[in-house]
Amino acid sequence: MSDCLFCKIVEKKIPAEVIFEDEKVVAFLDIKPVNPGHALVIHRHHHVDILDTPEADMQDLIVGAKKVATILFEKGLADGVNIGMNNKQAANQLILHAHLHVIPRKIGDGLKPWSHKDSTPDGLQSIANQLRSK
Ligand SMILES: [Zn+2]
Repeated sequence: MSDCLFCKIVEKKIPAEVIFEDEKVVAFLDIKPVNPGHALVIHRHHHVDILDTPEADMQDLIVGAKKVATILFEKGLADGVNIGMNNKQAANQLILHAHLHVIPRKIGDGLKPWSHKDSTPDGLQSIANQLRSK
């Protein structure tokens, strides 16, 4: 897509710190990293988000994320990794080209990525019933 920032990175029309690429995906450093080494994995095909991305391309993305995670561990930038995908405005997706975040974690880095809410068995059952209904 000609006006997509990440497609321009795929096409090498704008610079990025690429750390891994193959025939399917490109991984590069996030310019606003959560931790040093925070990388984004994108498919060479333009898709907007998880709903728009064919299953085969989602598989390529997660395999790419595994390769990036392996590199982060091997190079000593990670004791652990969080892998995330923001989809749509409500989830803070900023670039409308589907991407996985691979966020390296170090023991004691203090990052708390999620806040949690309390639940009840009845509340969980109600939501599960809604999600299971046809
Ligand atoms: Zn794109």
